[in-house]
Amino acid sequence: MSTFENPVNHFQEKIGLKDVLGVLFFGVFYLLIKGLWGHVALWCMVVLMPGLLDRSQDGQITVLFIAVVFNIVYAFLIPSILKRAYLKRGWSEIVVSGTRSIFVNQASKVETKKCPFCAEEVKFDAIKCKHCQSDLS
Ligand SMILES: [Zn+2]
Repeated sequence: MSTFENPVNHFQEKIGLKDVLGVLFFGVFYLLIKGLWGHVALWCMVVLMPGLLDRSQDGQITVLFIAVVFNIVYAFLIPSILKRAYLKRGWSEIVVSGTRSIFVNQASKVETKKCPFCAEEVKFDAIKCKHCQSDLS
C-alpha cells in the first residue's frame, strides 16, 4: 500500500486493495476513471477485437471470457501501473518511516520531507529549513 501526493493541490491518493477490487469488478471503466488512456485503448483492443471478428454467440462468450481473464491480470498489475502513472505526472510517493513522512519523487530523484515548523517541503538531508530557517538536525 502506498500513498501519492499531487504537488500542486496536495491531493493525496492511496494505492491499495480498492484499486485491485475496482479493476476486478469494473474493468475498463476503472482504468477510464483513473485516466489511464493507454491502458483503456489496450483493454478495448484485446478484449473487444475477438467480438468484432466473430459476431456469433461464440464470439460473445469469447469476449466475456477474455474480459474476465484480462481483468484479473490487470487487478494484479494495477498497483504498479498506477504508481508509474502518478510518478509520471510528477506526483510524490509518500513513504512513512516512523513518525515522519518522506516524499519521494522519482522524476527528480530528490527525497524531501515536511518541515515540522512551517510544513513546507525541504530536502531530506537538510539540517536547516530553507523556508523558515528552523533547525532540523
Ligand atoms: Zn520550515
